[in-house]
Amino acid sequence: MRRLVIETPGQSQRVLEGLYRDMQRRIGSSPLGLCPVDMALNFLRVCHAQTCGKCVPCRVGLGQLTKMLESVLDGEGEPELIDRIEMTAEVILDTADCAIGYEAARMVLQGVRGFRDDYEEHLLRGRCICGLEHAIPCTAVCPAHVDVPGYIALVKAGRCEDAVRLIRKDNPFPAVCGYVCEHPCEASCRRHMVDDAVNICGIKRYAVDHAGQVPLPPRAEPTGKRVAIVGGGPGGLTAAYFLTLMGHKTVVYEQRHKLGGMLRYGIPDYRLPPEVLDGDIQYILDTGVEAVLDTEVGGSVTLEQLKAEYDAVYISIGAHDDKKLGIEGEDNRNVVSAVKMLRGIGEGEIPDLKGKRVCVIGGGNVAMDATRTSLRLGAEHVTCVYRRREEDMTALPEEIEEAKAEGGEILALHAPARIEADESGACAALWAQPQLISRVGRDGRPAPKQASQPPVRIPCDYIIVAIGQAIHTQPFETSGIGTRRGAIQAERSCFVPGSGNVFAGGDAVSGPATVIRAVAAGKVAADNIDSFLGYHHTITVDVEVPAPQLTNSPACGRVNLRSRNIPHIDGDFDLVSQGMTEEECQQECGRCLRCDHFGYGVFKGGRNVKW
Ligand SMILES: Cc1cc2nc3c(=O)[nH]c(=O)nc-3n(C[C@H](O)[C@H](O)[C@H](O)COP(=O)(O)OP(=O)(O)OC[C@H]3O[C@@H](n4cnc5c(N)ncnc54)[C@H](O)[C@@H]3O)c2cc1C
Ligand code: SF4
Ligand code: SF4
Repeated sequence: MRRLVIETPGQSQRVLEGLYRDMQRRIGSSPLGLCPVDMALNFLRVCHAQTCGKCVPCRVGLGQLTKMLESVLDGEGEPELIDRIEMTAEVILDTADCAIGYEAARMVLQGVRGFRDDYEEHLLRGRCICGLEHAIPCTAVCPAHVDVPGYIALVKAGRCEDAVRLIRKDNPFPAVCGYVCEHPCEASCRRHMVDDAVNICGIKRYAVDHAGQVPLPPRAEPTGKRVAIVGGGPGGLTAAYFLTLMGHKTVVYEQRHKLGGMLRYGIPDYRLPPEVLDGDIQYILDTGVEAVLDTEVGGSVTLEQLKAEYDAVYISIGAHDDKKLGIEGEDNRNVVSAVKMLRGIGEGEIPDLKGKRVCVIGGGNVAMDATRTSLRLGAEHVTCVYRRREEDMTALPEEIEEAKAEGGEILALHAPARIEADESGACAALWAQPQLISRVGRDGRPAPKQASQPPVRIPCDYIIVAIGQAIHTQPFETSGIGTRRGAIQAERSCFVPGSGNVFAGGDAVSGPATVIRAVAAGKVAADNIDSFLGYHHTITVDVEVPAPQLTNSPACGRVNLRSRNIPHIDGDFDLVSQGMTEEECQQECGRCLRCDHFGYGVFKGGRNVKW
């Protein structure tokens, strides 16, 4: 008999793999505010347990590092101990034979350098500066700090109207966010520790879809102060909403014919139906916000005029200019930017792509929207050309899946090289250079480099460029507003230094981001403009959240939203994703662990009832 046998995982191996998976999910949803020294020590112990023991730096060095970190946590030792930790980690990094040793050392090194203050605090005062507060994970990670467990409990109790009122305390775009929020909150949801994140965004959508007419919140006494808002996107309208509730008169100046910014002139209808957007905007206007449409600030009205006429100005102009590829043939006919094309569609200018072959260049959500929109405009074939790998695309995985399911093709690891034109000057083909995925850059992403293969020719009638957006800062720069790397410069309070009475936020400051980040900036701006005007209004809501009930929450699958079946994509701009049924929503709400109460909930963190 030969000695080789077929290997099957034994019972212990299966248990171990299950434990690794549990641990992976747990670490992935680590809450904010954990002690970085304690975490480094525990990671180090796991790494040390993996050592084969053959090389001294790993076997002995990691053990020594462990002891030193234990001393820091016990507050034993002089501040020089931190230097010794750093030196020891450096030596292990340079001398360990394999990744078990040197990667463990790298992790310790990054921690000690990134959190030196924490290490010093432990040694000097025997306390931890990071662990003083344990916020509710989902609420802390939502940029606008929406009271997630609060609204989930209200939806579970069948009180959708109250749930929407509670959401509006922090975010006046509940419907928009229920449909298109990128839901960073879910990444930190503690339910990951049991099975999978709660579908927080889907529950929000259920709440808005079932809330009916929601009454307007009360407004504070008029203050007589006036605030001008430049830009009627989610950021500008959020600031206007809260400032109006605080009793200030707000006037929104918008260059386009309708309010909504990128929500109207960027996000396609099949993801965000116009009536959903209109509902949120009308509610904001109903509080008393005034809008001046078709008026560009920097054109018929200047920033200087607004600064003189109003007590404060908030600039939230978004990022509406396109970025250039910088390749030959870019100015050929039928080469368009994605933002321009999508804006045109929002304004009723529908390009004729019937039977055309389209290339979309880019790998973000805008590229996916351009791909899916082209298919709906009748394109015969749509190829999305991206210079990195598909897994490196910045678009949400579900967006990529949907684009592929609808018939879009992803051509990864190909960088646009030049655009070929026909005799009439229209684009005829995209030449793309094959790439090889290469070293990981400082941003933690593997960068592509040119592969030693010849460029490929992709015949096409249209090219849509979706490689990012720029900010049209020029009119504001000439009025003395500072910029940095193409974005308006503002402090974390949104105040524009040296401007007197100007604040700025949203995409115009952060660069292209997300709806909820623009909403969060609008909220921060409203709070700081209110103080700048000499007031300290608070925003609250008279909704009582149901008390939590102790449940043992057995593991249960997450309810995901389904996509509608689309037999003929051509011309079909109807909403694709379908909301939860009542039964699904009830089950999903029941998965929430009520971290506002359990865990650290009530005594370190708790719910924010006002701001
Ligand atoms: C195609 C596309 C799809 C997207 N999909 C999503 C998504 O699914 N989820 C998500 O979270 N985010 C998404 N985003 C990003 C999101 O739309 C933006 O981050 C968000 O709208 C930024 O809000 P804002 O208020 O800062 O700017 P904007 O929404 O851009 O609004 C700025 C407003 O200012 C106006 N304006 C500009 N200059 C002037 C001026 N000089 N005078 C007067 N008015 C002016 C503009 O017309 C515009 O109405 C998407 C973006 C695009 C382009
Ligand atoms: S607004 Fe977005 S990030 Fe905030 S709780 Fe809702 S889904 Fe999460
Ligand atoms: S379990 Fe509930 S309260 Fe806890 S993080 Fe998830 S959604 Fe938030």
